[in-house]
Amino acid sequence: MPNILVSPTGPEMSCQSWEIEGLLRLFLNSIDPRVAESSKELIVYGGRGKAARNHKAVKAIVQELRNLATDETLLIQSGKPVGKFKTFESSPRIVNASSVLVPHWSNDENFSELIDKGLMMYGQSTAASWAYIGVQGVLQGTFETMGEIAKKHFDNTLRGKIVLTSGLGGMSAAQPLSVTMHGGVCIVVEISEDKIDQRLKNNYCDIKVYSLEEAIEVANEAVTGKKPLAIALVGNVSEIYRKALKLNFIPDIVTDQTSAHDLLMGYIPSGLNLEQAKTLRTKNRAHYYQLIKESLLLHVEAMVSFMDSGAIVFEYGNNLRQQAFQAGYKKAFTIPGFAAEYLRPLYCEGRGPCRWIALSGNPDDIYKIDEIVVEEFKHDKRVSRWIQFVQEKIYFYGLPARTCWLNYDEREKIGFLINEMVKSGELSAPIAITRDHSEGSTMAAPFRETENMLDGSDIVADWPILNAMLNASAGASMVSIQNGGGVGIGNSVHSGMTVIADGSDEASERLRKVLVVDPGMSIIRHADAGYDQAKESLNKIKTGKR
Ligand code: NAD
Repeated sequence: MPNILVSPTGPEMSCQSWEIEGLLRLFLNSIDPRVAESSKELIVYGGRGKAARNHKAVKAIVQELRNLATDETLLIQSGKPVGKFKTFESSPRIVNASSVLVPHWSNDENFSELIDKGLMMYGQSTAASWAYIGVQGVLQGTFETMGEIAKKHFDNTLRGKIVLTSGLGGMSAAQPLSVTMHGGVCIVVEISEDKIDQRLKNNYCDIKVYSLEEAIEVANEAVTGKKPLAIALVGNVSEIYRKALKLNFIPDIVTDQTSAHDLLMGYIPSGLNLEQAKTLRTKNRAHYYQLIKESLLLHVEAMVSFMDSGAIVFEYGNNLRQQAFQAGYKKAFTIPGFAAEYLRPLYCEGRGPCRWIALSGNPDDIYKIDEIVVEEFKHDKRVSRWIQFVQEKIYFYGLPARTCWLNYDEREKIGFLINEMVKSGELSAPIAITRDHSEGSTMAAPFRETENMLDGSDIVADWPILNAMLNASAGASMVSIQNGGGVGIGNSVHSGMTVIADGSDEASERLRKVLVVDPGMSIIRHADAGYDQAKESLNKIKTGKR
């Protein structure tokens, strides 16, 4: 019996078209043991983020896709196929809704109850939309954020600057690598020495130190020599940040990526090592929470003090401010959120996270596209720097993939070129073109992407719904609407889309339309909210200057 949880590769297909085969391969790729965090439990990433509700649903999805006609649309409801209808060849092959609750009842408690009853699943973001590609996705988001900080504050480079942060976990480990990529020095505090050793092994960090004094000394030497360096410091974030203030050490940039969104499991209070934390968490939860509260207060207070002393400080999408606020620290929200500060200007230009996945399974297909990307967008140094960096640092696992933040007109262009490469036989099979959900119009999330909107429209969730409907009308192969990705149930509404570039003229037409929808809507959403930069972008498009 072939392993059902591994994506097929190569030029042969088992479905009635490459469009359907492509979606099948993406689905199986997202639950592939080399890609998913726990293939057995069908957990793709991000807590309990899944691509299918249960193993029975996996089999049903595979069977439905193998039988789907080229003018039918399959309905997926929270990871389970529930029916198919005759539509048009140009309609989406799959429409997908996941984790969506009626707003008044949209909370963890109701959602967990529905999960227990087997009626729903948590789709995170790209898990339910079958577009997950492992660490590369978060790495580029972090790379772009650091790039934007460099652009906004430091003449486009972090050379000679020190970033103090924490967390070397699944996603947070992208921080030191992204800082050094922009030429900077990173001190990253991590409580788990095992995690540090793991990150040293795969070159995410350069050295390990045991004291803040040593970290400062090594960091200052690197700054003097203008050398990039990633220093992993064994310690507790709350203690280290306070000590840094006592030593009068004010880094240029301070943030944090401990798993503060899940205090019980993801944030270790000061004074405890990992083992002690585990024991106390089970034996005396109330006392444990009390210790967390004390640590959090002092930790976030220290971050505000860094800010008052001139450092650039921001929250990095881990709900740290809300947790500190709830613990009683009223100044927590004086710290800005990273999305509003650094990603919004990109959204105003229509820049966002595009990704493409080689359905052949052949890494050469991705390298050939890399060459085209570097050549076509050579005016954009950030793109070529990113491609060079990711080629050196990232190994492929599962279907080879590449993510790349591209501008308004660049996405349509690359979509067209990829389809031409498939048509001419330069690539060994079709390519799936998709994206992250964290984009200008595709994510309504008042603690992250839509925090502090100029016109106060933080909680307006019409935009991702409009985005999904428009993508379906424009010819996407799969469209999804989801709730709760990134920041938890009830805190976000978002949409996903995928198009399969199979080399046909029809695919070319679809790509031309769909790849304008996301960046175009991002600009419109921000122009509507009053951002001058977005109004300017819109004006340039209307007058044919872009
Ligand atoms: P993770 O749980 O894998 O890693 C967190 C790390 O923090 C762990 O290695 C843990 O040992 C360490 N840690 C916990 N408490 C500590 C303490 N007191 N001192 C020092 N180290 C401590 O989680 P992750 O996948 O790396 O994500 C981290 C957080 O960042 C999450 O809340 C996630 O939602 C958020 N995040 C947001 C974005 C975004 O918005 N763009 C991107 C990535 C991650």
